[in-house]
Amino acid sequence: MKQIPYKIYLSEDEIPHYWYNVRTEMKEDIAPLLHPETKKPITLSDLEPIFCHELAKQEMNATDAYIEIPEEVRNFYKMYRPSPLVRAYCLEKALGTPAHIYYKYEGGNTSGSHKLNSAIAQAYYAKEQGIKALTTETGAGQWGTALAMACGYFGIDLKVFMVKCSCEQKPFRRGVIETYGASVTPSPSMETAVGRKINEMYPGNTGSLGTAISEAVEVATTTPNTRYALGSVMNQVLLHQTIIGLEAGKAFEKIGEYPDIIIGCAGGGSNLGGLMAPFISDKLNGRRNPYFIAVEPSSCPSMTRGKFAYDFCDTGHVTPLAKMYSLGNGYIPSSSHAGGLRYHGMNSVLSQLYHDGTLDEARSVKQTEVFEAATYFAKVEGILPAPESSHAIRVAIDEALKCKETGEEKVILFGLTGTGYFDMTAYMNYNAGKMEDYVPTDEELQKGIATMPKMD
Ligand SMILES: *Cc1c(COP(=O)(O)O)cnc(C)c1O
Repeated sequence: MKQIPYKIYLSEDEIPHYWYNVRTEMKEDIAPLLHPETKKPITLSDLEPIFCHELAKQEMNATDAYIEIPEEVRNFYKMYRPSPLVRAYCLEKALGTPAHIYYKYEGGNTSGSHKLNSAIAQAYYAKEQGIKALTTETGAGQWGTALAMACGYFGIDLKVFMVKCSCEQKPFRRGVIETYGASVTPSPSMETAVGRKINEMYPGNTGSLGTAISEAVEVATTTPNTRYALGSVMNQVLLHQTIIGLEAGKAFEKIGEYPDIIIGCAGGGSNLGGLMAPFISDKLNGRRNPYFIAVEPSSCPSMTRGKFAYDFCDTGHVTPLAKMYSLGNGYIPSSSHAGGLRYHGMNSVLSQLYHDGTLDEARSVKQTEVFEAATYFAKVEGILPAPESSHAIRVAIDEALKCKETGEEKVILFGLTGTGYFDMTAYMNYNAGKMEDYVPTDEELQKGIATMPKMD
């Protein structure tokens, strides 16, 4: 038999024409979003002051399994997609494992991550609706960069609230965002009412995605012809990210393999949900039974140690409530180096799948173990991974080593969501032996969980 190549590429024509709506096949649908004040299920018109019309519709859509990718978005995708599915032969050899390891590599665009897949869709729908400006938050900066690229492309103004500690750790990220024409404000700022309130409630805090979201939403809802865009957590984002899994599914078909284990890092859940999408469909319909693992940082363990209940998506309580695994909207994680995974909650679809047992396992890993895997991977596979992605690498390596013990030839797929060129402070810390692990105590977590709303 012909050897499977190192890189399994699809042709441009094979880029999917539809995103896949996982929600339509779930055993139990997700609980509805609730209005932050009335606590009643939200309607389309509640969402429209925040999101563009089409995106609000996608957010609520529980009935259409396939949603067409607009031609202009698909054409933009052609500039950097299909992304390769890579057979990690060198990693397998270095580990001496019989496992077949594959990764879907999303770092091959300037934003350096999968975020561009949703950014371009969101900017497109804004342009179609005649929206003049978008606001957003960014943690590590990948989302801010991706949306700046997308807005630059369609000629839309963009204001980015960037989590303060990331802004300080990664000045060059800010530089890239500004180069694409967007403006950057460290959050929490004194520019918004909610920012001033958060600064007063949590003095000296270094910000979180939750604080930046509150600020971005406030500006979007109080400025004419402006909307808000979110880079993770929401169902619309997970929907756009299904392009990752759909491409991966086609590539596996070409080579006649199928993943036994599918691993992804989970911040707000979009890349993992996207990667899992077609394979979830197989699992729910009894065609196949892949084992799914979500990996999160031990410093922000929303699935492994959080609570499955309604919570606000932001610290300032301006966004709808979602039923999800959460550490509490008031939980401000330690300033770990995986900025993209520092979110208190988890996408509702992914949360429900985990609750139902379709998503088999959530695992938390420590920062130093993650960087050990990251530097190892960089040496053997050549790619310098993002700290977020390296959470998935850690677990993929651990699973491959288990196969080495048992002699099982399992097929392992993980999402390599991005590159780490802007994370050199973190890598240098690790190289100098100065990186520390942070695992919150039960008491600290309890404080965060206590900020979740009491529902009756
Ligand atoms: C944002 C980000 C993540 C986490 O976000 P999800 O919504 O959970 O996918 C992971 N990896 C990279 C490189 C990111 O930029």
